[in-house]
Amino acid sequence: RDRADQELISLQQRIDTFDAKKPIETFSDLPLSSKTLKGLKSSHFVSPTPIQSLSIPDSLRGKDVLGSAKTGSGKTLAFLIPLLERLYMLKWGPMDGLGAVVISPTRELAVQTFNQLRDIGKYHSFSAGLVIGGKPLKEERDRLGRMNILIATPGRLLQHLDSTVGFESSGLKVLVLDEADRLLDLGFLPALKAIVSHFTTGSMDDPTLRRQTLLFSATQSSDLASLAKLSLKDPLYINCNKPGE
Ligand code: ADP
Ligand code: MG
Repeated sequence: RDRADQELISLQQRIDTFDAKKPIETFSDLPLSSKTLKGLKSSHFVSPTPIQSLSIPDSLRGKDVLGSAKTGSGKTLAFLIPLLERLYMLKWGPMDGLGAVVISPTRELAVQTFNQLRDIGKYHSFSAGLVIGGKPLKEERDRLGRMNILIATPGRLLQHLDSTVGFESSGLKVLVLDEADRLLDLGFLPALKAIVSHFTTGSMDDPTLRRQTLLFSATQSSDLASLAKLSLKDPLYINCNKPGE
């Protein structure tokens, strides 16, 4: 218990003093917990991709991030790693309920993200579930109501949030909007607006209480800019795409 607390203290120090100018060769050059490093290693992830190196240090500090990088550049780990780390640093436990939600545009992507979370998160003790429909709402809710992390498609999540006996979600710490350009192409802007406003942001002054939002997209557009405006507070912008992409 003391050793775990010690790790959290030294991890927070490494996050606070992280020097972005130093070259990052492997994931262990980032201020990450041994549980996450072990999960990455056992999944054979060695070196972070550019979008991961550029966004993870600030995401670990609790900053909102808008990350753009083309398909295949590793955006999933760019949000799954800080998501796990933030809950771990907050000592999130089974009784703390829902701590993080990832919105994916399609069931297939949600399943892929869930599997990647399960792989790299296997040394953590968080519970995680998929909210993608296919089962009666009540059945899904009974199973997922106490999960720490949910990977969801927008329409289905909204059905739960709108239901009078929806998920308890007032303490949410991390909200991820993944493949945001596809979410918008699929017409989910109204659903996303409702989801974003459902989860309270908390106080900007206290980063440990605040809800962090991470928004990732392969491409940028004016619609994306308006989604960013309504969901992100003072974000860090990271664009790994070449001009014109
Ligand atoms: P994107 O969301 O940007 O399209 P993904 O997150 O789906 O990209 O990643 C694309 C592929 O790259 C996946 O197969 C993933 O496992 C792999 N990948 C991600 N990060 C790394 C990394 N740091 N090292 C090696 N492979 C990686
Ligand atoms: Mg992706």
